[in-house]
Amino acid sequence: MENKIKAYNNILELIGDTPLVKLNRITEKLPGNFYAKLESFNPGHSSKDRVAAYIIEEAERKGILTKGSTIIETTSGNTGFSIAMVSIIKGYECILAVSSKSSKDKIDMLRSMGATVYVCPAHVSADDPRSYYQVAKRLHEETKGSIYINQYFNELNIDAHYNTTGPEIWGQTDGQITHLVACSGTGGTISGTARYLKEQNPNINVIGVDAFGSVLKKYHETGEFDSNEIYPYRIEGLGKNLIPTATDFEVIDKFIKVTDEESAHAAREIAKTEGMFVGYTSGAVMQAIKQLSAKRTFDENSKVVVIFPDHGSRYMSKIYSDKWMEDQGFFDSQSVEGTQQAQF
Ligand code: PMP
Repeated sequence: MENKIKAYNNILELIGDTPLVKLNRITEKLPGNFYAKLESFNPGHSSKDRVAAYIIEEAERKGILTKGSTIIETTSGNTGFSIAMVSIIKGYECILAVSSKSSKDKIDMLRSMGATVYVCPAHVSADDPRSYYQVAKRLHEETKGSIYINQYFNELNIDAHYNTTGPEIWGQTDGQITHLVACSGTGGTISGTARYLKEQNPNINVIGVDAFGSVLKKYHETGEFDSNEIYPYRIEGLGKNLIPTATDFEVIDKFIKVTDEESAHAAREIAKTEGMFVGYTSGAVMQAIKQLSAKRTFDENSKVVVIFPDHGSRYMSKIYSDKWMEDQGFFDSQSVEGTQQAQF
């Protein structure tokens, strides 16, 4: 009898082919058309599913990984979750060294997905032996038969998006995209997507979103690493205190910096106006769109694609907590946005 059951063989088959959704109310007063690539529709709820699956499958193709091998990575959470998910299905051990800046929710989630998690201090330099880079490197050296994904310095991170996100956006916009606006952390998303899109149409304008407290924008402009640019900030996954080789600075036309506060408010506004429950960096992208619009970057013919990297559920104890927002000084004392104060 013919098998008529319409089921995927496993969760990994759902990676990629995420929807592109028009933004309406939040961009109402801005010239141009804006479309959001909703990466939270990946089964691990972020764009990092693509990278984890791609890099692990490349290692399998090359015969580097065998059943029971250990996969090690540094991560702000999303990559770890994706690697843990892929490891479960494919039968690998997963060890993650994460920054103490990551939310408790994210760390608990990684452990729930079977990963062994080491929490490392956020505000030490990358070459400090306590940093999550150095911890991961050491664990890799100590664990026989392990692979280190090393997403900041792995070209395959770019290739994952070159082969998937780029072609998807080109197809979904019928080749009409004029601008791509995306966060840069490792740089894999923006670099791979932009590389593909610019091969199709070199006139597409690519704008990277960076954080105040990160070196990327200045490095892009001057070619110099300026440590004066580095200071702590709250957005997880955006910007960097080093120059990742997984960023192809050539395909990025310019960077724009956004603040923690405005990005948090922008994420909350996306939820309230578009009904899209997105993560902190999606707010950063939206804030960038506002700043770029104020500088007249777009006109009525613009077809702007923004990438919303992950889902809001990962930030319940941060940007979606009024208490957290207040504690950061992100609300002025007069108005707690959207909250009805009881009258007695
Ligand atoms: N947003 C979030 C929430 C992330 O975790 C990351 C990855 N660090 C990014 C954006 C940036 O993506 P990429 O690393 O591909 O530049």
